[in-house]
Amino acid sequence: MNKIHQFSQLERAEIRKDLQNQEFDILIIGGGITGAGIALDAASRGLSVALVEKQDFGAGTSSRSTKLVHGGLRYLENFEFKLVHEVGKEREIVHKNAPHLVIPTKMLLPIVKNGSLGKFTTSIGLLVYDFLAGVKKNEKRRMLSKAQTLNKEPLLNKKILKGSALYYEYKTDDARLVIETMKKATSYGAKALNYCPFKAFIYNDKKLAGIKTFDLLDSKDFEIKAKTVINATGPWVDQIRSSDAAVKGKRLHITKGIHIVIDRKKLPINNAIYFDVHDGRMIFAIPKKNKIYIGTTDTNYKGNFENPEITKDDVRYLLDATKNLFPGMNISIDDIESSWAGLRPLIHEDGKSPSEMSRKDEIFFAPSGLISIAGGKLTGYRKMAERIVDIVLKQLRSSDGRPFVKCKTENIPLSGGDFKFYPEILKLVDYADSKYDEVKQTGISIQQFKNLFYRYGTNLDTIINKAFVIFNEVKDAELAFLKAEIWYSIQFEMTSNLVDFFLRRTEMLYFEPRKVDQLKQIVFDEFKTYFTWNKEMVEKQIEELSLELKRITQFIPTV
Ligand code: FAD
Repeated sequence: MNKIHQFSQLERAEIRKDLQNQEFDILIIGGGITGAGIALDAASRGLSVALVEKQDFGAGTSSRSTKLVHGGLRYLENFEFKLVHEVGKEREIVHKNAPHLVIPTKMLLPIVKNGSLGKFTTSIGLLVYDFLAGVKKNEKRRMLSKAQTLNKEPLLNKKILKGSALYYEYKTDDARLVIETMKKATSYGAKALNYCPFKAFIYNDKKLAGIKTFDLLDSKDFEIKAKTVINATGPWVDQIRSSDAAVKGKRLHITKGIHIVIDRKKLPINNAIYFDVHDGRMIFAIPKKNKIYIGTTDTNYKGNFENPEITKDDVRYLLDATKNLFPGMNISIDDIESSWAGLRPLIHEDGKSPSEMSRKDEIFFAPSGLISIAGGKLTGYRKMAERIVDIVLKQLRSSDGRPFVKCKTENIPLSGGDFKFYPEILKLVDYADSKYDEVKQTGISIQQFKNLFYRYGTNLDTIINKAFVIFNEVKDAELAFLKAEIWYSIQFEMTSNLVDFFLRRTEMLYFEPRKVDQLKQIVFDEFKTYFTWNKEMVEKQIEELSLELKRITQFIPTV
């Protein structure tokens, strides 16, 4: 096989060799958004970068969030003005660098009797937010009367509604944000592998000199040497810290948040809605494709980190709050089509409840040289990365005198985000239309095209070229584009199995679980043409996908 890309699952052995054969400036443990962001920042400033992830990229919290690139409205409640300013600015930058993936969406904030928000305080709060977060003129908040609100959302509870505020949030696909960041990092030379857990630290005279790891897919132990080791393992940060030294002082506090997905027919709302729960918290109901996802909860968590469980109490909490705001809608546990649970790596603060704890990130320094980073938000990943790489570069400057290079990622489009027309973002639609014109003669459905466009942005060209070649053989547009997508996913996005593909490359397991059932055999057969799987591995693939489907759709009586 010709060398195609440095982020290809088919080039695992070469990447592993590269990881073993040099001493890196920086080695990152953890391939969520924090690790991916650090990899891109460091590689683009000229550092040699290695990254290992024990599951798939983004398989931790970074594929289990509310999938919003926030302006940080909630932080105002805790008077964290600086944070609101920073994330507001960041939201704009992340949007600019991946306009196909980070998309503005109207958010309605209903004001209800006995709710946590009053009309006046909401109006002032959002005014302050618009100012601090640097919100664009056309996205500034608008206050609506009760009648105006019902005009927009007739299903809201008329008995308790007093009015609403309309503002903007940005929707994303969190796992793809990780993948596109990783892809860009590798285009700058970063070397990264998924399915490689950290096993132990290597020391040289009590200072960290690298790690021992294990390639789970090829069953190979290996070592990676590095001048600096960064622990970016999110909820697992304290576990890794404790492999180096006893965790003292500040530590993580893990809370769980779940989301449920229902069909849009069950809750036909027109906008994303951010609304009150009886306990003073707030949750979202967000339209996505033909579904609505609702979340999230915030409860202390002590169970399994890889697959946090969802309880019926978690689900009831979300359903009760939804039924309170939309009393005419008959939504029950049987309507849940899929669900996910994620863990927040918060920084523990004595005496505070989960919702009261700050979402700020924290950096921990160990005498061995280990640098750990946790907390924060998806939205703020670029700034977190900048802070870490500034520290690493200063350390390297004092050890080997290399020059300090300033962070560049503000102006680096993520992979797939190479549109030339920012800030005229409406041109995104024109761009998509022109791409559709290129492919419509194959008979591809608009929905399949849209899915591909918003997943791959400017990388869609590579998929289209491949799809045309396949189409000439199979004469079936849906199949040709699906096969081309799988090819791209394996060769350019380090996809190694069906769950990577259906969950973190395409979100189909969350938003089209029934389609996964229909497509799984075709996708499986196509995967088999790329990998030499023995009988045991074939069985494992099928078993893992069924397990994941079961986990995600656990509340459906029959899938
Ligand atoms: P993770 O994504 O968990 O990544 C850490 C990685 O380290 C994992 O992939 C894990 O497999 C890997 N790892 C662990 N141990 C090892 C090891 N031994 N060897 C190798 N790798 C290892 N933020 C927003 O901005 N917007 C939102 O809408 C939003 N909603 C949220 C909703 C919920 C329910 C939750 C829980 C969080 C939400 N957040 C949101 C916060 C955001 O999702 C997190 O801050 C962010 O994803 C954390 O990323 P991370 O890379 O630090 O951690």
